[in-house]
Amino acid sequence: MRVSEYGLDGYDDIQAQARAVVESLAPRDREPRAGEGLTDTQVKAFRASGLSRHAVPGRFGGITETVDPVAVCVIREELMYGSSPLDAMFALQGIGSYALTLGGDPELQRYWLPRIASGEALAAMALTEPGAGSDLKAATTTIRVEGDELRIDGLKSFISHAEVADVITVFGKEEGGWSLVAVPADTPGLSIRPGPSLIAPHDVADVVLDGVRVPVSHRIGAPGKAFDLVLATLTVFRASVAGSAVGLAQAALDEAVRHCRDREQFGRPLYKLGPVAGLLADSGSDVEMSRLLAYRAATRAREAAESGDGARAAESLDYSSMAKLAATEAACRVVDRCVQAMGRFGLVADSRIGQIYLLQRPLRIYEGASEVLRLGVARYLTAQLPDASGPDASGPD
Ligand SMILES: Cc1cc2nc3c(=O)[nH]c(=O)nc-3n(C[C@H](O)[C@H](O)[C@H](O)COP(=O)(O)OP(=O)(O)OC[C@H]3O[C@@H](n4cnc5c(N)ncnc54)[C@H](O)[C@@H]3O)c2cc1C
Repeated sequence: MRVSEYGLDGYDDIQAQARAVVESLAPRDREPRAGEGLTDTQVKAFRASGLSRHAVPGRFGGITETVDPVAVCVIREELMYGSSPLDAMFALQGIGSYALTLGGDPELQRYWLPRIASGEALAAMALTEPGAGSDLKAATTTIRVEGDELRIDGLKSFISHAEVADVITVFGKEEGGWSLVAVPADTPGLSIRPGPSLIAPHDVADVVLDGVRVPVSHRIGAPGKAFDLVLATLTVFRASVAGSAVGLAQAALDEAVRHCRDREQFGRPLYKLGPVAGLLADSGSDVEMSRLLAYRAATRAREAAESGDGARAAESLDYSSMAKLAATEAACRVVDRCVQAMGRFGLVADSRIGQIYLLQRPLRIYEGASEVLRLGVARYLTAQLPDASGPDASGPD
């Protein structure tokens, strides 16, 4: 289905471009096998795709004047439909560089952003630590000014694509607050240790920061004020996780519908057996609802970014959280139903549905776990009431 059929004009070509990048890979090259990481073929195809130009603004080689959350969402939907490594690489180009786009030193921007736009450089974002996941403020990585340099010490864990990244945006404590620093991956003192092998193949690694020194100009934004940059990044990219979830759920649905059309039991195609019809119909409805919400959230994020109004951006983050929550939870329901509808054929390892069954699970955990998002969404709903200033408006802590 083209994006224009959902009332969004100007995105059909972008959707087709993303689809073509997936199709440029042979089917066996699209997903990693168990225990495999990113392959050279995937990285090469991604670098050459031109898609990274949607992750940075026009003045640094991007396609649009500012990063367009709708384009990002549409691209992630298409990529995740066919190839999760392509989706992850694209997402990280944006997530890893957006703070730099918003608040980086001009010289640093001029160095990194055109390279990221062209795909020559890959970006990563290092927030998480062994003791700090949802509770980012528990981060213990330190950033200290020493002369005209910043010294960074700490350990980041579960950092996507750290092993291939050229620049890593690192989050740490500074001056009673939290700062972000752009650290080139070849900086002395920065080393990468392989992370655990995940059930859904995806490269994560530890980033060890042992007396890392970079010029003070590598700090992004004001000292100790990085939370606003993290929230701005989430406003744009959380809606895109919803897009990614929609792509994956659609891929599962297409597998199941094809199977249930072609396989007969009791003399009829599976899709005509009432309970199986229910599994497919409920899944199709979930996918459509999620897609509409993802596009709506991305549109609101685009409008908020264009307005430059901080209050609107905060509200749009809540809405993006709602879309991420709804679409990722729905994707997991859809995939489970699709496996059920396909019977034993849904259980074959390395089949497309088998891959999707593993790929769906991290969606509800990374970039805001569902339980944490629910707290924010409940607060947002409470604040929407006309008497929001009343004593009960604060919502759950
Ligand atoms: C595939 C993958 C890729 C990742 N890539 C990156 C990356 O590139 N960079 C990076 O920095 N991090 C990355 N992460 C880490 C990710 O951001 C964290 O996993 C996520 O923030 C959740 O933290 P946690 O896993 O430590 O869970 P925890 O915070 O320990 O949460 C455990 C459970 O408790 C719940 N919970 C936590 N706090 C609350 C609360 N206040 N109220 C109610 N429930 C709560 C959670 O919802 C969850 O169910 C990645 C993770 C995965 C799985």
